[in-house]
Amino acid sequence: MIIIMRSDAKKSEVEEVIKKVENLGYEIKLFKGVKKTVIHIIGVSDRSMIRKEIEQLSGVEKLVSILQPFKFVSREFKKDDTKINIDDVNLGGDEITVMAGPCAVETEETLLKIADIVKKAGAKILRGGAFKPRTSPYSFQGLGQKGLEFLAKAREKTGLKIVTEVVSVEDVPIVTQYADILQIGARNMQNYSLLKTVGRFNKPVLLKRGISATIEEFLMAAEYIVSEGNPNVILCERGIRTYERYTRYTLDISAVPVIKNLSHLPIIIDPSHAAGDWRFVSALAKAGIAAGSSGLIIEVHNEPEKALSDGKQSLNPSNFKKLMEDIKAIAKAIGRDI
Ligand code: PEP
Ligand code: MN
Repeated sequence: MIIIMRSDAKKSEVEEVIKKVENLGYEIKLFKGVKKTVIHIIGVSDRSMIRKEIEQLSGVEKLVSILQPFKFVSREFKKDDTKINIDDVNLGGDEITVMAGPCAVETEETLLKIADIVKKAGAKILRGGAFKPRTSPYSFQGLGQKGLEFLAKAREKTGLKIVTEVVSVEDVPIVTQYADILQIGARNMQNYSLLKTVGRFNKPVLLKRGISATIEEFLMAAEYIVSEGNPNVILCERGIRTYERYTRYTLDISAVPVIKNLSHLPIIIDPSHAAGDWRFVSALAKAGIAAGSSGLIIEVHNEPEKALSDGKQSLNPSNFKKLMEDIKAIAKAIGRDI
C-alpha cells in the first residue's frame, strides 16, 4: 500500500506517519519525489485497518492500494506517462527519440565520424560503450575512461546527448560524470546492487531487458531503481532468448503494448542486439515504432566490417539514413513527431 503525502506536508507530519506505520508492525520504504513524499508500506495484510489508522493523519493526501508486485513503476501508481527531458530531448511524449552509434567507442576519430553521421540523419542521442560487458573475456573490453572522454568530445562537437553503459558499482560515479543517460545492460538487469546504486543518482537510466527475463522481472528491476529515489528510467526491449537461431535473440514486440499498459515508464526498442544481423535491423526498428515504442537504440558504424564489436549487426551510414526516413513516414502515420 502506498501513502501519498500532500505536497505541503511538513517533515514532522511525514515522520509521524512513518512512526505510526512502524508501530503497527510494518516496514516502510520512503520515496522523496520532487513534488511529493510517498511512503510504501511493505506487505500489508489488513488494508482496511491501515486505512482507518492512517487516512486521518495530518499531511496525508491519500492511500493507494497497488495490486501489482511492482509499485512505483506501475500505472496504478501513476496514470500519466513519465516524460524524461534532457534539455531539448523529450523522451516518453509524442516525440520519437533515436539513439545511435557504435557498439563500442573505438577511437576518437571513428567516434566523431559516426556521431556526425547519426546526427545528420536525425538521431538525438549518441550511443557507444566505454565499458563493455563481453561474452568472452578475450574480446575487446572497451576503452574505459578514455572512451568516456571521447564521448564527451563528440557531445561537445555535435550537441548530441550521450548514453553509455555502466557495468559495475565502482564505475557509477565516473560514468555519471560523463553520460547523459546511464545504460544498464541486459546481463546486469538483475544486478541488484548496481540497480540500487544508479537509483541513488539523479541521472536518467536506460534499463535493458535481461535475455531471459519475464516482463514482470523486468519491471521489478526498474522498481529497484525507482524505489531508491530515481524516477527517470527508460525501459529497453532488446530481444529475449528463445529456441530460434536465425536471429541472435527474439524481439518481443508485444513487450511494448504490454509494458505501456502496466507501467508509466517510457519503453524503447533495440533492434540491433535482437536481430544480430544488420539485414533484419530496419524491419524490427520499424515494427517497434509502429507498435508504439518511444524510441530506438541502434548500432551504426561507418565501416561495420571493421568494427571491434557487433559489426555484423551494425547499420552502415546509408542504411541508417534510409531507416530514419522510413521512421519519419511511420511517425507521421501514427501521429507522432520525430
Ligand atoms: C549494447 O547495447 O552494446 C549491449 C551490450 O546491449 P545488451 O546489454 O542489450 O546486450
Ligand atoms: Mn553491441
